Amino acid sequence: MTDIILSFPNTDMLTGSHDAGLVMLSVLVAALASYTTLTLSNRIVASAKGSHLWLGFGALSMGTGIWSMHFIGMLAFDLPIPLGYDLTLTILSLVIATALSGFALMQIRSPQLPMHRLLTAGILMGLAIAAMHYVGMAAMLMAPGIVYQPVYFALSIAIAIAAATAALYIAFHLSRQPHGPILLYRLVAAAIMGLAIASMHYTGMLAANFPADSICLAAGSTDQPWIVWAVALTSIVVLGGTLIAALFDSRFETVTTHLSHSLREATEELKQMARTDQLTGLASRALLMETLDDIIASGTLTDRRCAALLIDLDNFKLVNSSLNHADGDELLRQLARTLRDSFPESPIIARFSGDTFVVILEEPCDAPDILRQIDTFRAALWQPFLLQGREISVTATIGIAVSATCKAHTGNAAARMMIDHAEKALYEAKTEGRNRFRFFEEKMQDTAKREFDLQRDLRKAFLDGELELFLQPKVCAKSGIIRSAEALVRWRHPIHGLLLPGEFLGIAEKFGLLSMLEGWTLNEACQILSRWRANGATHRDLSLAVNISASQFCDPGFVEKVLDITRSYDIAPERLILEITEHSAMRDPVTAAAAMRQLTEAGITFSIDDFGTGHSSLVQLKRLPFAELKIDRSFITDMANNAEDRQIVEAIVLIARQFGLRVVAEGVEDRDTGAMLADIGINLLQGFGIAMPMPCSEFEAVSLAA
Ligand code: C2E
Ligand code: CA
Ligand code: CA
Repeated sequence: MTDIILSFPNTDMLTGSHDAGLVMLSVLVAALASYTTLTLSNRIVASAKGSHLWLGFGALSMGTGIWSMHFIGMLAFDLPIPLGYDLTLTILSLVIATALSGFALMQIRSPQLPMHRLLTAGILMGLAIAAMHYVGMAAMLMAPGIVYQPVYFALSIAIAIAAATAALYIAFHLSRQPHGPILLYRLVAAAIMGLAIASMHYTGMLAANFPADSICLAAGSTDQPWIVWAVALTSIVVLGGTLIAALFDSRFETVTTHLSHSLREATEELKQMARTDQLTGLASRALLMETLDDIIASGTLTDRRCAALLIDLDNFKLVNSSLNHADGDELLRQLARTLRDSFPESPIIARFSGDTFVVILEEPCDAPDILRQIDTFRAALWQPFLLQGREISVTATIGIAVSATCKAHTGNAAARMMIDHAEKALYEAKTEGRNRFRFFEEKMQDTAKREFDLQRDLRKAFLDGELELFLQPKVCAKSGIIRSAEALVRWRHPIHGLLLPGEFLGIAEKFGLLSMLEGWTLNEACQILSRWRANGATHRDLSLAVNISASQFCDPGFVEKVLDITRSYDIAPERLILEITEHSAMRDPVTAAAAMRQLTEAGITFSIDDFGTGHSSLVQLKRLPFAELKIDRSFITDMANNAEDRQIVEAIVLIARQFGLRVVAEGVEDRDTGAMLADIGINLLQGFGIAMPMPCSEFEAVSLAA
């Protein structure tokens, strides 16, 4: 290798020379250290977490870089005397370089880099380079000491500070530059920094004069070439490794940023989804409540009203069960369209639950305006929906609440209360029948409270034994002999007295207690039948009829439940009659037929209740295994004065006979009607004119006397 001869002005001085290859290697190591540090400084700023870690690595790589550059530089330097380095001072030089680099990097960590901080960082970094160099030189333990030329000495420090400042400035701005040829900038910055370190070193070497009789006291304590090579290699490995780690972290951060971006997008999408009803595209319940809050709040400020219309389809479950799933969905979609068309000015239309919708109306919002809009909607419903070529007609019941009634409440509470009022109005409208609307009135509040109290009492009534079965005789039309009885539930309420089923069945259904109530009735009736059976001749031939509601009858567990009870009381199954209204049987004829067949096989008989009120054809009914038909009392009560009713009854009797059904007339209120019915050919009579419903003990006494 070519040696660069450094000639010193003083002839009494030793002449040193530099190995050009090693000089280049030293510059390269310095540049690599700078590049690594710059990359790390980017991490220090960019990574939210682990910035301390990266700061540590940055300081270490810079410190090691400067340090190894120095020793490679010293390896390149040759004096005509043996050279060596004191271990303690050598290590101290590394510590100084690392610590000062750390302080320098800390300065560029914050989001802004004002001039004073840049200068502080630059000076610290420059001093790190310089201090390392001169402590490293001191480690040679030269005797006599090295003589430094003041101008070069000062120049070396100035070069270190200036170049470090420039490099840090570039590094800081690089870390904030998301675009552009960052790699190039960083390479340039690293080259500047690397050159700065090297120039500092070689300027420092220029400043150093070694007197002619100098000896190195540290010589021989360390095998210089070996240690320097080791230093060079280790630092390259350390710097390279750190650099790779930083690049990975940067890549990782890019991926993380990308992921968190996608996550944000997905969250937004989910939020959007939660705000719309997927089936109809209308607003969701959540969005409705949010929007209604805002509307009420702004209305309170400007004293403007709004109205909430809670719209519920009548008998949607029935319609839905006659359609397939997709058609049911399509019906709701078409209805959503009708709602949009009918209330074009509504600020929000929402699907509230299954077949319940909410339309909010804003000013003008007086009763006539609301009614006009409701009329438009109901007129639109007259037009049947078309589903796969089938025309389906639906009607709707509407509960209306106006914001004025919720004035005392603010924010979320007001919105909730308004919907609550609309629900109460809807409930009232439904109680009166369907296909109508009601405005909320304060007294509905009372109804709701009364009902709530009553259902609470009803739950207790089961435990306290307040329920009782009354029995009403069904007698032979010809002979007047009691053949059977209908079990009718009564509730001896501790405050309200004896309550009829009409006063609590609706509440039981509404609060989910109907199944319990019917279970109780069935159990009670079977217990009576088993007692009659045990009693012997007097009552054992009597049958007992129990009313079964539609919801109960369509319950999948119903058949098992009945069979279990009849088995457990060991009754003769043919003594048990289940009365099902025509309407219940027709609700789901397929399920009904299956359940009836199973129970008929077990010996239980069925009676069609309230016959004539539904719209079923006798042919349809014939497919179901009924044994008895009860003509609804609406045809019977006034039959004596109404020729048309009489003809209907005669026709029913004729057809029922054809089908082999026993015919019962209910609601027989006087003896004359009874006689007339006997003439027509009715089998059994039931009614106040024959006997009132009575407690079981009374019934047992009466039937014994007959
Ligand atoms: P329903 O099955 O049609 O029962 C006959 C109803 O007509 C009974 O009313 C009975 O008191 C009444 N009634 C009997 N004779 C006459 C009469 O000559 N004129 C008039 N106007 N009414 C007469 P009740 O006991 O108030 O029962 C009303 C309805 O409640 C029953 O109608 C039945 O559907 C239901 N129900 C009664 N008990 C039960 C029960 O244990 N379970 C179920 N699911 N429903 C029951
Ligand atoms: Ca009945
Ligand atoms: Ca009836």
